[in-house]
Amino acid sequence: MVRDFAEREIAPHVMEWDEASRFPMEIVKELGRLGLLGIIFPVEYGGAGMGYIEYATAIEELSRVDGSVGIIVAAHTSLCSNHIFVAGSETQKKKYIPKLATGEFLGAWGLTEPNSGSDAGGARCSAVRKGDRWVLNGTKTFITNGTYADVYVVVAVTDKTSGTHGLSAFIVDKGTKGFRPGKKENKLGLRASDTAELIFEDCEIPLTNLCGKEGDGFIDAMRILDGGRISIASLGLGMAQGAFEAALKYSQQRKQFGKAISEFQAIQWKLADMATEIDAARLLTHRAAWLKDNHMKTTLESSMAKLYTSEVAVRTANEAVQIFGGYGFIKDYPAEKFYRDVKLCTIGEGTSEIQRLVISRQLLKNS
Ligand SMILES: Cc1cc2nc3c(=O)[nH]c(=O)nc-3n(C[C@H](O)[C@H](O)[C@H](O)COP(=O)(O)OP(=O)(O)OC[C@H]3O[C@@H](n4cnc5c(N)ncnc54)[C@H](O)[C@@H]3O)c2cc1C
Repeated sequence: MVRDFAEREIAPHVMEWDEASRFPMEIVKELGRLGLLGIIFPVEYGGAGMGYIEYATAIEELSRVDGSVGIIVAAHTSLCSNHIFVAGSETQKKKYIPKLATGEFLGAWGLTEPNSGSDAGGARCSAVRKGDRWVLNGTKTFITNGTYADVYVVVAVTDKTSGTHGLSAFIVDKGTKGFRPGKKENKLGLRASDTAELIFEDCEIPLTNLCGKEGDGFIDAMRILDGGRISIASLGLGMAQGAFEAALKYSQQRKQFGKAISEFQAIQWKLADMATEIDAARLLTHRAAWLKDNHMKTTLESSMAKLYTSEVAVRTANEAVQIFGGYGFIKDYPAEKFYRDVKLCTIGEGTSEIQRLVISRQLLKNS
């Protein structure tokens, strides 16, 4: 169903949205109606009652056609909505999850700041308790869905003296006084997705908007990223699959020296390596998804899937451009867009370097 939808409703518009950096709000609403914005949440909260395997498959299928749509759904589901679902109170879950799961609300998740990316624990955005309110001040940067979201989960410092135990998460509604989305980034790739600043200037929110326990914001964010990294792996996987399929088809059509270029061994070996790596990446991603569905800790496996899949996606898109030759450099063909879009996967939700750090820490801890 997701594949049919993506090919019918998304594929015809991909380049137009990319060139104009146009956020496809109508597609987001339609995904909500189809139940694709709450795949991992129980039916009683308006979700589809499925798991991460189904969620990863949906993100892969959307991203096979357009990574921008994949990342919109990923940030909405496994970051914003899931943070509320995992750490939020029952009242918060009942208030927000049904609307997020059905697409009435779009979600965004703000951890990164101008001076704290990989070092997320170094956040400076602050939340100070004043009577019956929290007062937020500071800036978040590079936030997916930042301009268009209705609900934001934001991590801020509540106790400067406690390091990563001094961070807490808050729910901020669109239109709250003192909060506004800032600069919308002009990006290399995933251009139809929205990436924006969030600006808080004496933004007052009720005490009840604390999401999770005070001081648990960073720890909860790391737990959320265990699921988020399965999303980014699926995003990379879908784009790698899309680039591979385009290159495979083109190699059978393009003739040089009197034969299809797929008859040259140099091209055949590229195709063989691309397909093998994509398969391995899919197995790693689905292993992490399966573990998550079986309520096991996935820090190691999610990072392995995210690291490997994103690097496979970059290699695959690079080889796809090579197989297209000069046409791979031209916007009339699909290879160049995959090449631009995949690069985000080795950066977002922890760079490849940070994934290696997470993996090695887990290995050393468990040895
Ligand atoms: C399109 C897009 C969407 C995004 N969406 C979101 C979102 O929705 N929410 C959100 O909170 N954030 C989001 N981000 C932010 C993203 O998670 C960060 O960009 C990423 O974590 C890297 O942080 P940084 O950009 O500050 O790079 P830096 O941390 O400054 O890293 C720069 C370089 O230094 C390396 N480096 C840093 N520390 C180490 C170390 N200890 N060891 C080795 N190498 C290191 C990095 O690997 C990298 O190569 C998004 C980013 C982009 C581009």
